[in-house]
Amino acid sequence: MRVAFLGLGAIGTPMAAHLARDHELAVWNRTDERARAFAGHHQARAAATPREAVTGAAAIVTCLPTSAEVEGLLGGPDGILAGAAGGTLFLDCTSGDPATSRRIAARLADRGIAFADAPVSGGTNGAEAATLTVMVGGDAATFERARPLLASFGKRIVHMGPVGAGDAMKAVNNALLGVNIQAVGEALATLARAGVEPALAVETLNASSGRSFVSEALVPERVLTGAWPRTFRLALLDKDVGIALDIAHERDVEAPVLTAAGTALHRARTILGEQADYLEAIRVIEEQAGVELRA
Ligand code: NDP
Repeated sequence: MRVAFLGLGAIGTPMAAHLARDHELAVWNRTDERARAFAGHHQARAAATPREAVTGAAAIVTCLPTSAEVEGLLGGPDGILAGAAGGTLFLDCTSGDPATSRRIAARLADRGIAFADAPVSGGTNGAEAATLTVMVGGDAATFERARPLLASFGKRIVHMGPVGAGDAMKAVNNALLGVNIQAVGEALATLARAGVEPALAVETLNASSGRSFVSEALVPERVLTGAWPRTFRLALLDKDVGIALDIAHERDVEAPVLTAAGTALHRARTILGEQADYLEAIRVIEEQAGVELRA
């Protein structure tokens, strides 16, 4: 199948690499060097514009920071709609927001293009290993068309409901991740101040009922080691928590814990900047408490 992939970021790049093995792939990236470098390393063609990438493609896959950037690529003489034919399948793997995805889907439907939001979970490691969970929002027929394509990088491909349902699932999942990061950081800082050595605290927590994915996997790998690898920007996690809060508040769910975590993560983003990794939110907790959570 001829596929166009737009957005070679931290997670888009390994996802596109799997598609390049299974399909005839054209890639486009805002910063052109990344597309050309990708085409130099994989069986893929670098396109100069979104229009060029999607011309002749049976499927389009996007993976951009937010739904706003996806919407921004649709129009204009070099945009997606200038090149995409009716009957094309459009899968947006951005962790987007449901309202914008519904607007995009309606605009594409006018041109006979089927859309599904298909955000992913599993991180850059999961993308490299092709073990991502893909949360799909769209009608049943679009989901069935999308499934084989998503299987190039996804292990669990789940139909969540109509357009926007995938975005909602992803945002709420990441909101829970954000709550956990904030909570585990505060817990370990409290224990450090109480005289418990961080590695021992983590080990004991992970043999007790307070454990989570954050305490079991992320903190040992990234915080205790002080490695702070940059795989997922804190700015993007803050965006996801914001989407989840909007969904909650629109539906009269007060969500005080999520609100507090969102405030703390947004503050950490302001302090650390747009390139900081999501786990670095714990650095702000360390700083405030005057501790370092290293083994
Ligand atoms: P990055 O910040 O690494 O990459 C963003 C990509 O979007 C780059 O290709 C960038 O191009 C492009 N881009 C940014 N702004 C624009 C614009 N205005 N127009 C066109 N292209 C633009 O993000 P990730 O790859 O980490 O994340 C992509 C999506 O996947 C996000 O929604 C994120 O929340 C989600 N996600 C990320 C995970 C991760 O572990 N990283 C895990 C799960 C989901 P350029 O090269 O020019 O900067």
